[in-house]
Amino acid sequence: MIFENVFKSLVENTNDVIMVMDSTPLDDGGPFIVYVNPAFEKLMGYTSEEVVGKNPSVLQGPDTDKDTRLKIREAMSAGKRIRTQILNYTKSEQAVWMDINIVPIKNDQGQIAYFAAIERDLTEHKMLESRLEMLASTDMLTGLPNRLATMNKAAKEFARTKRYNRPLSIVMIDVDHFKSINDTHGHATGDHVLQNVGHICSDTLRDSDVLGRIGGEEFILLLPDTPKANAEQVAERMRARLANTPIKHGDLELTITASFGVASFTSNDGTLEEIIERADNAMYAAKNAGRNQVQTAA
Ligand code: GH3
Ligand code: MG
Ligand code: MG
Repeated sequence: MIFENVFKSLVENTNDVIMVMDSTPLDDGGPFIVYVNPAFEKLMGYTSEEVVGKNPSVLQGPDTDKDTRLKIREAMSAGKRIRTQILNYTKSEQAVWMDINIVPIKNDQGQIAYFAAIERDLTEHKMLESRLEMLASTDMLTGLPNRLATMNKAAKEFARTKRYNRPLSIVMIDVDHFKSINDTHGHATGDHVLQNVGHICSDTLRDSDVLGRIGGEEFILLLPDTPKANAEQVAERMRARLANTPIKHGDLELTITASFGVASFTSNDGTLEEIIERADNAMYAAKNAGRNQVQTAA
């Protein structure tokens, strides 16, 4: 076979991880690893001798997805090729995300003799992906969920509320006379105030509550499983805490208030927007009635 050396050299020099398994049936403890290339040894930290003869499950660990493992088993049992992503662990127990492509290899009789896994390290890609997800859903000034993330969450809660007929309340929050803080003390102080408003308001919440920043000095609070009377109490507690916690910035000490509008789901609500609109109107009523107060929609 004139190409044998060429193929050997390719497999030994590629940056991709290559692992060959025999076709011992899964219920006989198989498959067993029969070959790993140098890229495997380098990434996974095992020498060839340490893994040959073992089941590839030695590379799996606590967070390896069970459904993915099952999917791979099923494809191999059926003699099919499969491409997926799987979390593996190096010898030093470092988690690595692998793009894995498993191909059955037949002998001259047409029977599957081996499975070759050709794999690529996706860890950096996965980290970048989760960082991008975080950036896309976070308001960078306050660290709170941004408008998009909050509205997605609200849509999910609304669907759950309708389906199971659970209570859901929404509170719209708008800082009072915020423009004058910017105008008097500058934008940097304004930013500092917004960050602190975020901290002060999130301090009073349960884990299931979601506070998001949806605009300049506007926040929305989602209160799942919370009827109107309880939502009013939450909003009132938040209002008082904000009004009673001076915000320091350098030598400045600023007292901040906000207006709150509360609305709750009723069985007439066909869309989430209907609740938000009532909460918004209640918030404007709070502004008109003198600010620094909670108003509730009928
Ligand atoms: P009201 O009591 O009626 O709510 O008055 P207000 O001044 O709070 O409301 P208005 O909507 O007139 O002003 C909001 C201001 O918020 C205007 C805008 O320049 C400022 N703003 C919006 N986003 C930011 C931000 O990210 N940082 C800072 N510092 N200011 C912002
Ligand atoms: Mg506003
Ligand atoms: Mg305002």
